[in-house]
Amino acid sequence: MKFNTKTIHGNQQHDPATGAVMPPIYQTSTYAQKSPGQHKGYEYSRTGNPTRSALENAFASLENGKYGLAFASGLAAIDAVIKLLKPGDEVIATNDLYGGTYRLFTKIFENFGVKFHFIGFGDTQSLSALINDKTKLIWIETPTNPMLNIIDIEAVVKTAKATKILVAVDNTFATPYLQLPLNMGADIVMHSATKYLGGHSDVVMGALVVRDKVLAEKLHFIQNASGAICGPQDSFLVLRGLKTLHVRMQRHCENATVIVDYLERHPRVEKVFWPGLKTHPNHEIAKKQMKDFGGMLSFSTKGNRKADAIKVVENLKLFTLAESLGGVESLCGHPASMTHASIPKAVREKTGVTDSLIRLSVGIEDITDLINDLKQALKL
Ligand SMILES: *Cc1c(COP(=O)(O)O)cnc(C)c1O
Repeated sequence: MKFNTKTIHGNQQHDPATGAVMPPIYQTSTYAQKSPGQHKGYEYSRTGNPTRSALENAFASLENGKYGLAFASGLAAIDAVIKLLKPGDEVIATNDLYGGTYRLFTKIFENFGVKFHFIGFGDTQSLSALINDKTKLIWIETPTNPMLNIIDIEAVVKTAKATKILVAVDNTFATPYLQLPLNMGADIVMHSATKYLGGHSDVVMGALVVRDKVLAEKLHFIQNASGAICGPQDSFLVLRGLKTLHVRMQRHCENATVIVDYLERHPRVEKVFWPGLKTHPNHEIAKKQMKDFGGMLSFSTKGNRKADAIKVVENLKLFTLAESLGGVESLCGHPASMTHASIPKAVREKTGVTDSLIRLSVGIEDITDLINDLKQALKL
């Protein structure tokens, strides 16, 4: 089945009880048993719920995996992955991670004795140098947030596989429409389904997809034991969102292409960060592992003044100034004071998150209106 059909039909079936085309919202916490332990596959909704199962199966299909797991948020999904580890274990992660992931690693899990190394993944040599027998997990995001750096997933997998280290990829920015990390050898794909998968800025949710049965069982155990599950109503909404993922992504990419071209030629713009640009340092890797270049981009204003960047995001009208991304509506943000405020200034500036950086999540509105909005906002 092709991807554009999978979003609508992949691992999905009509409700076996009634034939309902969309799975009903099974708003129940528990399930009747005929005799102790005799049930129809569901006992308690933390452990499993039919609406959530329908969504989890759809996630698995889209990422070309076997097992999908849905969580209360993207961070809850990441939390479950790190709970595979023990004190003393080491993780190697990208140094321009999503701010909340960095916070979870350094402020929560370091307290439990897990050690994190944050590096640029520009070359696999620096990765190899850090690997030792305590290294259990490599955590990467590509494209990264908000600098839109691209990590060569196959190269990382090749380095990790020699030593049986798990490779997890946060695929939130790319979505399975653009790239399939499991096909490239990764073990775990993670999503903030809050973003493109849900796609309508109305749900907070996380997802994991794996192929390995033993790994899936461990993660299911953690999902049930720790309990950060999502409810049936939210599961329904994300399942509905998934059905248009391919058409939304196509338009996100088309609109971003036009906006990048506009910003590149704008006298007030210093630099545009988007993997589709031929001048982007990782453009060739992006071309190799992605189908298109996505709807996320960042740019800095000339002169590197924080006040200018703030003014631009305040001026924008159609681009709503807000956290988050990946919805049908365009959003803008100032990473240094919003999504990345929890990362120390020295650390974030090293990765390029300067005070003049603006991040756009390009929506699927009419491109003429989006360009006009940028035009008026950049008249500083
Ligand atoms: C939003 C986001 C997360 C966290 O997901 P939540 O659903 O907000 O918990 C993780 N990684 C990336 C890349 C994100 O954009």
